[in-house]
Amino acid sequence: MERTPRLFVVSGPAGVGKGTLVSRVRAARPELGLTVSATTRDPRPGEVDGVSYHFMTEDEFQSHVDAGDFLEWAQVHDHRYGTLRSEVDRCLDAGRSVVLEIDVQGGANVKRLYPDVVRIFILPPSWEVLESRLRGRGTESEDSLRLRLADARKELELAPTYDVRITNDDLDAAARELAETIESHEIQGGTT
Ligand code: 5GP
Repeated sequence: MERTPRLFVVSGPAGVGKGTLVSRVRAARPELGLTVSATTRDPRPGEVDGVSYHFMTEDEFQSHVDAGDFLEWAQVHDHRYGTLRSEVDRCLDAGRSVVLEIDVQGGANVKRLYPDVVRIFILPPSWEVLESRLRGRGTESEDSLRLRLADARKELELAPTYDVRITNDDLDAAARELAETIESHEIQGGTT
């Protein structure tokens, strides 16, 4: 069946497992474009520069802002994160769909630039599950954890503004649902 390359945004609170879900779909569909965002936060153990993120100083990030290199950028939690325009255009120009894993502010900004974007929100099965997943990740200090939980509440309020909502209860089922959502929108087409 004919597929049209589309732009997708995947958002959801920290700890909901959106990164894992997107990686699963990407493993099954290696041709899907995944952009590497820029961030001013420090790498976590195991994260690789240029793969997980382009890790930047505040000055480096600001120079990309000034040069207009970002399609969108936002302050998330206590750092800045941004999507480089060049990364998205490279995929769309090559006829590949692109999945942006970005926060709700980024999601709103991308919607303004690309009205045909398909925005997918990943929901936790419950608030308690989200909190325990975030704590279990063990990567955050208590302060950072508290900030992420407060931000998570605000992010969840915006879930109804998204086109599709997927609950990440069972990882396999949620990954399947995400893959099917992407595929069905590629088949329906659009103008992106
Ligand atoms: P983390 O620090 O846990 O990797 O990511 C924190 C948040 O930043 C997540 O909600 C993630 O989706 C968001 N994020 C990552 N990259 C970008 C980006 O390029 N733009 C925006 N707006 N948010 C991003």
